[in-house]
Formats: sequence, structure tokens, C-alpha cells
Amino acid sequence: MNTAGKARMPVIFFGHGSPMNTLEHNRYTEAWRALGANVPKPKAILAISAHWLTRGTAATAMASPPTIHDFGGFPQALFDMQYPAPGDPALAARLRELLAPLPVHLDQSWGLDHGTWSVLAHAFPDADTPVVQLSMDGTKPARFHYELGQRLAPLRDEDVLIVGSGNVVHNLMLMRRGESAPAYDWARRFNERVRAALASGEHQALIDFERWGEDARLSVPTPEHYLPLLYIAGLQVEGESMAFAVDGYEAGSLGMLSAAAGMPAGWRGAADLP
Ligand code: ZN
Repeated sequence: MNTAGKARMPVIFFGHGSPMNTLEHNRYTEAWRALGANVPKPKAILAISAHWLTRGTAATAMASPPTIHDFGGFPQALFDMQYPAPGDPALAARLRELLAPLPVHLDQSWGLDHGTWSVLAHAFPDADTPVVQLSMDGTKPARFHYELGQRLAPLRDEDVLIVGSGNVVHNLMLMRRGESAPAYDWARRFNERVRAALASGEHQALIDFERWGEDARLSVPTPEHYLPLLYIAGLQVEGESMAFAVDGYEAGSLGMLSAAAGMPAGWRGAADLP
């Protein structure tokens, strides 16, 4: 509850992994479904996806954002995927107001990318809640993203569900083949460190992740999949804890942690994290 006695919207970080998760049903997608089913119905969803890096900050401002298939080499069924959620130009305008004097470009050319729809297709399968994407300024350091997340906090009291979509560990170059490919030791160490920092609210350590040396360098070779987590951490309010919905490793070098803060009392996170 916030000071007005109204329910404050939770915030969620989804570890999206392979775009193929859109079409699959597995323990990750089950956890995403349970997250969506347990949040109060949002008026709109604001998504921060690993797959929209820009120079400057932008928000999708069209009434009907197209489904973008921003990948190659996947089956036709994935290119056929549509997530026809409406946009919310008023929310885009609200973002501009909220983040001023930081300029927010009201975008008419992007849409919903697979970082957003691969998880929302499970969490909100009806696609009837308006969705706005906020881009990440790829020229800015980690702290900027954390602080920008903090500035979005009023939206939690305006029935907007804010979600980040990325992966804590994301190294495509070192992926291992095979269903049961074991996770690299550095991937486990980094992921467990992040999880511990999230659980104990050590946000400074999350911002300074590069200080974790080689494990960080290998787990976060480029920052775009890690940064959405910083927005969600920045949105945690005093007294809220971060709970974990699911975790695991795919292809040795993808960390599938999903986490949420402010979930309703009835929601149970994962009890058996690997
Ligand atoms: Zn991705």
C-alpha cells in the first residue's frame, strides 16, 4: 500500500533467454505466467527491453505498436508471432513529463521487440493491456539506468506495471550446445552474487557489477541484457524485498533469473532455486 492507501504495482524483471521461449512451455514460462496472473490488473505496462538501445531516451508513442521480429535464424512460427497489445500515447507523454528535463523522444518507428513480447505472451497472453516501451540510452553508465528507474517510481501508484526484460548472465559467444549443457562456473558465481545483492538490497554492488572482475566480464560482455535489472532494482521502495520467481541456466552462459518486488501477499516465489 502507498500513502494514499492504494495498492502499489509490483515491478518485475524477466530473464527472457532464447526467443523460442515464446513458443515453448517450460518452467521459466510457467513462472512468467504465474507472475502475470498474480499482479493486480495494470492500466498499462511499461517495458524496458534489452533489445532497444538508443542514443538518448525514447518511448514508443504510437496507438498500435507493431510486433518487431528483431532476430534472425529462428523458425517461421516465431516470425509469425504477433503480440497485438495497444500502445498508450498518454503514458508516453507522461514519461516525458516525469523524466524532464531529460529529453524523451516520442517514438513512432519502433514497436514491441522480442525482449518484451517473448515474456508478455506468457505473462499477459490476452495482449489487451496497453504496452509502452522505454529505450535505454546506450551511451550512459550503469548508474544512469538505476537512477532513471528510480524516477519512474510514481508510475507504480498510477496502476502502471513496470517490467524489465534481459538476462543477468548473457554471453552468446560462449553458449554450449545440448539440452543439459552445464553452466560455466563464472556464470554461476556471477548470478549467485547478483541474486545475493538483490536479496539484501545492496544496490550499489549491482551498479558496480564490473568490479566483480572476470566473472562480470564473461557474464556481461555487453551491458544491454543486464541493465534492465537496474531499473527494477531502482524501483524498489523502502521496506520492499525482491523475491525470485525462477532461476536456472541455459546453454551454459544464459542466466534465467526472474525477480519481482512488491508482489501481493498470496504470491509464492520459487522455493527451489538452482
Ligand atoms: Zn535478449
